[in-house]
Amino acid sequence: MPLLKRITGLFGDEGESADESAIEREAVGPSHVCQSCGKEYFENPTMNIRTCGNCGGVKVERV
Ligand SMILES: [Zn+2]
Repeated sequence: MPLLKRITGLFGDEGESADESAIEREAVGPSHVCQSCGKEYFENPTMNIRTCGNCGGVKVERV
């Protein structure tokens, strides 16, 4: 259904332009991101976060 695809695309564009604060934040950059829930951590990059304080996941990876 091409129309549905178009609408989805419009929503996608809108989301990107409305999310400028996220882009600014990305310029500073989180040190770690939870691969399970997406929570960003701003810690010492040399620090190793074993578990996510948000979801308890163990896939908190350095970025
Ligand atoms: Zn998490």
